[in-house]
Amino acid sequence: MKITANNPNRKSWLKVNDCSDFPIQNIPFGVFITKDDIITIGSRIGDYAIDLGALHQLGYFNGIPLTDDIFLQDNLNDFIADGRKTWRLVRNRIADIFDVTNGTLRDNPIHKEKIIFRIDEVEMLLPVSIGDYTDFYASKEHATNVGSLFRDPKNALLPNWLHIPIGYHGRSSSIIPSGTNIRRPYGQTKPVEGSKSPGFGPSKLLDFELEMAFITTASNNLGERISIEEAEEYIFGLVQFNDWSARDIQAWEYVPLGPFLGKSFASTISPWIVTLDALEPFRVDNPKQSPEPLPYLQHDKKGSFDIHLQVAIQPDGEKETIVANSNFKYMYWTMAQQLTHHTVNGCPVNAGDMMGSGTISGPTKDSFGSMLELTWRGQHPITLLDGTERKFINDNDTVIMRAHCKNDQIRIGFGECTGKILPAK
Ligand code: CA
Repeated sequence: MKITANNPNRKSWLKVNDCSDFPIQNIPFGVFITKDDIITIGSRIGDYAIDLGALHQLGYFNGIPLTDDIFLQDNLNDFIADGRKTWRLVRNRIADIFDVTNGTLRDNPIHKEKIIFRIDEVEMLLPVSIGDYTDFYASKEHATNVGSLFRDPKNALLPNWLHIPIGYHGRSSSIIPSGTNIRRPYGQTKPVEGSKSPGFGPSKLLDFELEMAFITTASNNLGERISIEEAEEYIFGLVQFNDWSARDIQAWEYVPLGPFLGKSFASTISPWIVTLDALEPFRVDNPKQSPEPLPYLQHDKKGSFDIHLQVAIQPDGEKETIVANSNFKYMYWTMAQQLTHHTVNGCPVNAGDMMGSGTISGPTKDSFGSMLELTWRGQHPITLLDGTERKFINDNDTVIMRAHCKNDQIRIGFGECTGKILPAK
């Protein structure tokens, strides 16, 4: 089915600024609550939130096989479970409804009042009920940097890294939407020199991790696996993802089983899921992989995406300082490879599961995706615009992440993924 929603020449009768992340070619999906406390599934064009539940009730999706209450829910899981054909039909229809040449809704003020809200009149909620969350470790630069810092620069990459999209199972209970404050976590840390017992207290080395994450639909039953050719069929879309990390807690606990409480205190996602369909024009060549991965992980189709990523730190009451610029295309393992590998043992993946990319670091020092790497574990502090220095994240700092794609014709973005660190309690 053609993705007519992606037509770069299409214009909307809703006003969209040139620099907006949300032109009519984006049509992301999210969940919001209105001033009248109504929770609904929605989309966004420019600075307007669109109530898809109201659109459906008023008959604008006639002809598309959808249950009556599909958008009158507090998460997108059931809609995502409907599969790619339905996602495309709905996205194409929304594009038609808001096309500048279509007067049906444009010229119906009573319907418009029920369907369209200013974005500052609604509050964004988590878009999905995340059943299972996995975080990968898929940027070679990041794995090399962290291996050098935590272990040994000469053997920074462990022997399995070039063969397996390495990942671990995380906690979904602490995944929060952009704008939610985060309390600095307590935890155990390595014993200081001369002491036999570990330290305990608020983390002193609180960090962000610049990531993207993809949301899946149900892909396989227990005992079955999926092929790399079909893997993308099961990817609904992407969000930006800040995998907050307490480096001092992490360093003490991670051997031998990997990340635990140093990661699970909070993870922030941007609230609009940008569909894989909307990102179609921004595919780029896969990274060169050497040695060649095993046959079940080999694919020719372009599975990397050119998504510009940015991180800024904003101290309380001050201007923000941009501290990193990276790109999603730096990932060594593609999403298709990650999802294929995830199911190779027959473990089911469900609608609403979330897979983090792992920190995305580029080849240059200003493209690293964490403070751990940017300051080289505090050896080279960053000076912010207000003159203060940061080795890691201070109390009352807000970390702002942004992600967007751009070509000659359109810009597709994710909005912001922000979180403020509150002092430990
Ligand atoms: Ca991570």
